Amino acid sequence: MAYLGNPKNTIEALQKHQFHFQKKFGQNFLIDTHVLDKIVRAAEIRDDDFVLEIGPGIGTLTQYLCERARLVAAVEIDRNLMPILTDTMQEYDNVILINNDILKLDLASLIQQYGGGRPIRVVANLPYYITTPIVMQLLEGRFPIASMTMMVQKEVARRMQSGPGSKEYGALSLAVQYYASPAIVANVPPNCFMPRPGVGSAVIHMTVHEKPPVFVEEEALLFALIRASFCQRRKTLFNGLKNLKGFDFTKEQIREAILALGVSENVRGEALSLEQFAQLSNALHRSL
Ligand code: SAM
Repeated sequence: MAYLGNPKNTIEALQKHQFHFQKKFGQNFLIDTHVLDKIVRAAEIRDDDFVLEIGPGIGTLTQYLCERARLVAAVEIDRNLMPILTDTMQEYDNVILINNDILKLDLASLIQQYGGGRPIRVVANLPYYITTPIVMQLLEGRFPIASMTMMVQKEVARRMQSGPGSKEYGALSLAVQYYASPAIVANVPPNCFMPRPGVGSAVIHMTVHEKPPVFVEEEALLFALIRASFCQRRKTLFNGLKNLKGFDFTKEQIREAILALGVSENVRGEALSLEQFAQLSNALHRSL
């Protein structure tokens, strides 16, 4: 079987199996070998690694992964792709094809069974309609993951990577950076996919922290603060936090915790770093 990562071989595989793209599954298949090379290089796969691929499509990236990793588990939601994958991956004996929704899969068992007791690597050209739920489920689940290398919508990649002071900075930046160090490794134009998506894409590599970079006494409070601070960006932090759902702080407790950061009472949430959100969360937690 030839490599699929070019227009000719992709079209041939699709026609052979009379496959029709399903928009609802975010199906945009890679047809550019340079991009495939960049993804696997960024993923730093070692020959004893277990790799989880989300959404293998017809197996374009899966082929590259199987040539580098000990074992690859490829989880695809579309059952119409399973016969194609069985065909395109027939030369590889180190691939497990799973027909399931990644959000419903028992990932802990999969890792337990095949991970070999070491942190796994996640690599994916993600379906853009569920990028954030997938990324957050993987990070919040605290699975033993060393890194995640993912193709996402360009704007989403920027939001994940940005810091205070940038207009892209928000709840997603802080949530991702609490669990991982993200870095954009490539920008990818629409013509690298079939069919072409209506948006630009980027490959983001996230090195997952063994332990978060900040100490937080009550994670649920930290994330409630972050959500409330960015819910209405133009509000001051103080106004955003006055009606914090699920917690019963007085205005005075909130004002004192903000001032203890050494910032103005009129500061906006978008000016605070992850470290400052952690300090704020710990100060409020102690004031309970
Ligand atoms: N990896 C292939 C490539 O690079 O050419 C295909 C990438 S395509 C952008 C996204 C793939 O994810 C599609 O094959 C789609 O069917 C699959 N997919 C969509 N939602 C999924 C889900 N919830 N769980 C698993 N796979 C999903």
